Amino acid sequence: MANEKKAKGLSLFSGGLDSQLAIRVLERAGAYIEAITFVTPFFPADKAIAEAKKLGVKLHLIDFTDDEVALIENPPHGFGSAMNPCIDCHATMMKRAGELMNTLGFDFIATGEVINQRPMSQNKQALKTVEKSSGLEGRLVRPLSALLLDPSIPEQEGLIDRTKLCDLSGRRRERQAELAKELGITDYPSPGGGCKLTEDGFSRRLRDLMEHETLHERRLLDLLSVGRRFRLEKGSSLILGRDVNDNRLLASKSIDSDTVISPVSVPGPTGIIPRLISDEDMFDAAQIVCAWSKFDRFTGDAIVVKVTNNQNSREIKILPPYEREKFLPYQVL
Ligand code: SF4
Repeated sequence: MANEKKAKGLSLFSGGLDSQLAIRVLERAGAYIEAITFVTPFFPADKAIAEAKKLGVKLHLIDFTDDEVALIENPPHGFGSAMNPCIDCHATMMKRAGELMNTLGFDFIATGEVINQRPMSQNKQALKTVEKSSGLEGRLVRPLSALLLDPSIPEQEGLIDRTKLCDLSGRRRERQAELAKELGITDYPSPGGGCKLTEDGFSRRLRDLMEHETLHERRLLDLLSVGRRFRLEKGSSLILGRDVNDNRLLASKSIDSDTVISPVSVPGPTGIIPRLISDEDMFDAAQIVCAWSKFDRFTGDAIVVKVTNNQNSREIKILPPYEREKFLPYQVL
């Protein structure tokens, strides 16, 4: 390249193949790239962290929880198929990325988007709209489809060698696989398993939390993925471990103000009530803990449970019958 200065780009990075290809293609085109991952309780960063390490690229982890929660509570363009405010989420990420670009003195933002991979949100017009509305006009590079788009400013200035960029389009993945091979990316995660906001079950839990408690407590958001969840008659929620790992996690995440219920006389799940509203809810929760415990249904013995709150513990006896069916209507599925 005639121009000796290297363009510096920040590339949005999920850890998925397209975001890896975007980085390698831009490096091949002469740019210096660092990665950005927006982190929320709805989009774990583990994959991005592991893949960035493998690629040897510096990763910026940006907490995006407050932005995402604000958009869930009030999405100007509404939701996708579940509680995913994709249009506004995407635009806000671009805006935040642009701010970081200016703060860190980078030249452009990049994404691994491929034209028409998602016909509604990734057609040529939609990509142009995002570029304009994020204030990144000319500074947003989509290296995987760049040859089908207008040249960005760094390309025009010769800081990125446009001839090394790609012309990928559509949903088929063969070209990405070929490109990965060409660029030496051999071990990459399979697509999917990304944003929980697109999942129906998770979205129902999230809506339940939003309607009855708050989305502004990080711990409650983290707990949305754990165990079974019940919304009890007086309004408290019960989170019940499904297995030994859940029970451990719930015990480790509980704080003094939680009401923690666990069976003493039989093996069974740990349940936590983050905000206990009434004694009726506490007794219902204790019955649920018993109903999901491993009891001998023929002996008719009472189950002893321990109830702890603010470091005070007491044991209470819950008498049979322990009926799961009675409480199924309270489960948030
Ligand atoms: S899938 Fe999730 S992270 Fe991605 S744009 Fe939609 S809401 Fe945002």
